[in-house]
Amino acid sequence: MEEQTPWTGKLMARIGRQSFVLFVALAIAVIAFTAGMNGWGVLGLLLIMVLAILCSSPPRASVQPPVTADTIEEPIVRSLLPEVSATLSALDIPVMVIASDASVLFQNRAAEKAFGEVLIGAHISARLRSPGILDMVRETIVTNAPNQIEHSERLPSERVYLVRSSPIELGSEAGNGERLFMLAFRDISEVRRLDRMRSDFVANASHELRTPLASLRGFIETIQGPAKNDFKAQERFLGIMFDQTTRMSRLVDDLLSLSRLELKSHIAPDEKVDLVPLLGHVRDALLPLARDVGVDIALHLPEGKAEVSGDRDELVQVFENLMENACKYGQEGKSVDVFLKNAPNTPVEVTVVDKGPGIPAEHVPRLTERFYRVNIEDSRSKKGTGLGLAIVKHILTRHRARLIVKSEVGKGTSFTVRF
Ligand code: ADP
Repeated sequence: MEEQTPWTGKLMARIGRQSFVLFVALAIAVIAFTAGMNGWGVLGLLLIMVLAILCSSPPRASVQPPVTADTIEEPIVRSLLPEVSATLSALDIPVMVIASDASVLFQNRAAEKAFGEVLIGAHISARLRSPGILDMVRETIVTNAPNQIEHSERLPSERVYLVRSSPIELGSEAGNGERLFMLAFRDISEVRRLDRMRSDFVANASHELRTPLASLRGFIETIQGPAKNDFKAQERFLGIMFDQTTRMSRLVDDLLSLSRLELKSHIAPDEKVDLVPLLGHVRDALLPLARDVGVDIALHLPEGKAEVSGDRDELVQVFENLMENACKYGQEGKSVDVFLKNAPNTPVEVTVVDKGPGIPAEHVPRLTERFYRVNIEDSRSKKGTGLGLAIVKHILTRHRARLIVKSEVGKGTSFTVRF
């Protein structure tokens, strides 16, 4: 609500403003009186002049100059900016406040961290050179309407921002004609990365299924056509077709496993599972495969129990995957060693060690990505789907456990699960 000033106060203020003109009017009256004019006439003249001056309209408010580096100290900006800035400082997304000449009046700490310090009062282009952002800011200042664009930064790391420029509504009283604008940067790099991962995943899964399907179709056409009466060839083709369908169903099983794990990733399992019998069970289940590839699986277990909180079936899946990989990618004629460590006051650890060719260091950080394989042909020939370690990682995340991979080319690889 506007505060009411008493009429006497207003009158005194007006007289104060017009004091010079009143003084001149008084001087004219005195001169007229001394020149012999009738006293009543002089008084009447004086009254008319005083009334004319006091009834004249008050002077108009001057138009505020645009905010520039030199005028930032103007009262309006000085009185409003601290309030706006205090609120924006608390935001964890980069935000800048700019004036109608596109000079930066404020940037919060998140903006300083993302884009570096900016000289207050400098034009926005001193910090942000993207023509897209500059055009958008210009348009918002001209139209007083919000706008947004997507903007990528390559340095220091690749980031994608949704940048929005909008006028700050100060209210007619507070703003007093001056306009401020806000530039906010929402980091959408993670959303974009997940989008890309999802579309890569769909593309990879379709590709993995399309290959065996195309091969099945080819064999069916051959059996129906050129090999119609060649029973020997037909038998061979049916064997390959059987392998392809097995591969497809393994892939579908792994995909379903992954999606089930994703659904319950936030619920930690709380069953008590003893790893000693569990590892023995996994080794027994893998004996036929180990025999086929000529590898021995040796268990090194401690005395007594080694209990962890977990889901038994999922932990079986983890150690099956790790031991199967060690057998598949390990060296023929050599052993795969499985160590279970359960010392007091240290985390329970299971390490699967092979003496295979090892994994070059650049591949190690990516092994748990879906469909990531060091050598695609090698993995396919060993009936791999490229999803085994991704499943392992999902299960371990749910179990609050870590997977540590150490590998030396030419010597072998170790996968450690630390609970
Ligand atoms: P796959 O079904 O192809 O085995 P995984 O997700 O289980 O998929 O493993 C991903 C890739 O990691 C494998 O294709 C292989 O290149 C590599 N890899 C996994 N375990 C080992 C290992 N013990 N020794 C060497 N390479 C391995």
